[in-house]
Amino acid sequence: MQYQTVIGLEIHIQLSTKSKIFCACSTKFGNLPNSNTCPVCLGLPGALPVLNKHAVELAIILGLALNCDIQKESIWDRKNYFYQDLPKGYQITQFASPLCLNGFVDIHVNEDLKKIPINRIHMEEDAGKSIHDAANGSFTCIDLNRTGVPLCEVVTEPDINTPEEAAEFLRTMRSIVRYAGVSDGNMEEGSLRCDANISIRPEGEKELGTKVELKNLNSIKFIERALQYEVERQKAVLTDGGKIIQETRLFNEQEGITESMRTKEDAHDYRYFPDPDLVPLIVDKKWVASCQKKLPEMAKKRCRRFVTEYKLPEYDASVLTADKDLADYFEETTKTYKQPKKISNWIMTELMRELKESEIEITDCPMRPKHLAQLLTLIDNNTISGKIAKKVFAAMVKTGKEPEDIIQENNLTQIADPETIKKVITDIIADNPKQHEEYKQGKEKVFGFFVGQVMRVMHGKANPQMVNELLKKML
Ligand code: ADP
Ligand code: ZN
Ligand code: MG
Repeated sequence: MQYQTVIGLEIHIQLSTKSKIFCACSTKFGNLPNSNTCPVCLGLPGALPVLNKHAVELAIILGLALNCDIQKESIWDRKNYFYQDLPKGYQITQFASPLCLNGFVDIHVNEDLKKIPINRIHMEEDAGKSIHDAANGSFTCIDLNRTGVPLCEVVTEPDINTPEEAAEFLRTMRSIVRYAGVSDGNMEEGSLRCDANISIRPEGEKELGTKVELKNLNSIKFIERALQYEVERQKAVLTDGGKIIQETRLFNEQEGITESMRTKEDAHDYRYFPDPDLVPLIVDKKWVASCQKKLPEMAKKRCRRFVTEYKLPEYDASVLTADKDLADYFEETTKTYKQPKKISNWIMTELMRELKESEIEITDCPMRPKHLAQLLTLIDNNTISGKIAKKVFAAMVKTGKEPEDIIQENNLTQIADPETIKKVITDIIADNPKQHEEYKQGKEKVFGFFVGQVMRVMHGKANPQMVNELLKKML
């Protein structure tokens, strides 16, 4: 039996506001536990919420970036449940009437674009954090700094069909939220969190299979792996004549498997009802229009512009613009160095490799765009060869020094003095009479050998063009 995989994602995005959604406490990550709290976010009796306008603005911008219809009226609901990290005993969220409906995101799937429909985006407040491994595991500690931090939850339709598509969707989402400036999209710090729903059904079947929800997935790699595992597990259950039960499962990172956490019978009844402390959220056309203006150029449009404005190949443009910071870096470099394709080559090969190896983000890279521009200029005016440039480049990425300083400190300036090069060539020819004879007999390949020898003796610093010309003459 052939099965089709069906995946729907629920993604929580932390909005980058300075203060919380219903009080003035800071949203800063990493502050002393419980220092960013007040009567409102601690849920003390009598404290009343006041909506943060900026949070709504960011949610509207996100909705527009995901091609949603922004609703004129949305309602704040209470989602009631008891847990130690939720001091009020309920979470303020939007349930029946969310802020955004009916969007879509285009993702790349094998050269093609696939439209993933968005069902809705609603706003809500975050809960606090339980720290279970504190004090040698004898206590659970509660940090309420996160309580009341503004979130948007994006819910997709179940139209994602492979774990790889799910991963690509998340990469695209991360790029979009960063471009739109609504969130830092940082998964390690929890600014982007994802629950994945997955089911399988016989190929051609219309009705959806029973879904399983995967929770606590904190990297795109784990999400992809957990989904891959789940596809195989569900297939095995059905092939064995068994039934999938609707349940929530957790991914065990060490073993690479998913494990049951709770079944449908344990599911909460949240008793949603409109929060009497908050009036409906009204968003008029004027407000939406002003948010539209704040929406920056997004990746897709920027990619097209890179092709037309900088004459980059489609591939370069899409790699560079997938990450807003990388695209910014590229554009900054073009300001002082006017050959975009060369810049793109260096960024896509050398720079991206160095960043990956040293595990740093482009924004933290010590080598700034103006340094890269300087380096490329030094290659063009023959101060250094392309080969030496790679060495200088690696040192620049590590130290953030200017290329000229590195070249001087390490005595790497290119040698373009014909007399010096001639002397070296004379010696090498004298030392290799056999190869010289072969060359004269017409064995052209030996030429490369001589180039290699000259470069070796001159530590790669000889001007390659000059070496070629002189060798031809002298051999
Ligand atoms: P629930 O009421 O359990 O929260 P929803 O209908 O709100 O379910 O959907 C939650 C998420 O699960 C959505 O992203 C949706 O696309 C996805 N989903 C729903 N049904 C299925 C299914 N049968 N298989 C895979 N994903 C599903
Ligand atoms: Zn507060
Ligand atoms: Mg639901």
